[in-house]
Amino acid sequence: MDKPNRLVIASNNAGKLREINALLASLSIEVVPQAEFDTGEVDEPHGTFVENALVKARHASRCSGLPALSDDSGICVRALQGAPGVLSARYAGEPKSDERNNLKLINALKNETDRRAYYYCIIVLLRHADDPQPIIVDGSWHGEIIDHPRGEGGFGYDPYFFLPEFGKTSAELSAEQKNRISHRGQALLKLMEILRAKKF
Ligand code: IMP
Repeated sequence: MDKPNRLVIASNNAGKLREINALLASLSIEVVPQAEFDTGEVDEPHGTFVENALVKARHASRCSGLPALSDDSGICVRALQGAPGVLSARYAGEPKSDERNNLKLINALKNETDRRAYYYCIIVLLRHADDPQPIIVDGSWHGEIIDHPRGEGGFGYDPYFFLPEFGKTSAELSAEQKNRISHRGQALLKLMEILRAKKF
């Protein structure tokens, strides 16, 4: 199948939409936010990133009649057996709060010397809602959790996510730098290669 001319994105996050839009525009693919359709909220009940991403993409595709792209991401901490993982956004419960999530994380690692963690992002592209063989790409970004926040950029866990090779947290990187090397940036790059090679 040829690459699509239009697809729906199963996200209402303005930052993500802008980033994905800019990349796909260079391939002449028009990106339509799911807010343009009556999609409502879909539950993300699963224990793995890939299952949740598939649920979101399938729902968006069914509601819009278009091919659909979704992503799911989070931070996985080695000493916590991968937590917060798929629960990253709501690690400290409802309502979502980056501040309370970070406090909970630092507290959980209080007596822990192993600070290794990675951000993970998966992107799923469905040709249609019943596509039996979705395109799935992912990216991982490794670092360490520190106890005291540094930097004003990014969002979520970024001020506590330290990158030894830069001597900085991900909140201290410029947005361009972060987008180029992050878990999401890596996954998007893989997706672009597939679309460019017309392996859709
Ligand atoms: P979602 O994929 O938008 O649902 O994001 C899941 C959650 O993972 C976010 O709310 C953040 O808590 C965390 N997260 C994912 N990517 C990043 C990132 O690049 N920086 C900081 N936190 C992130």
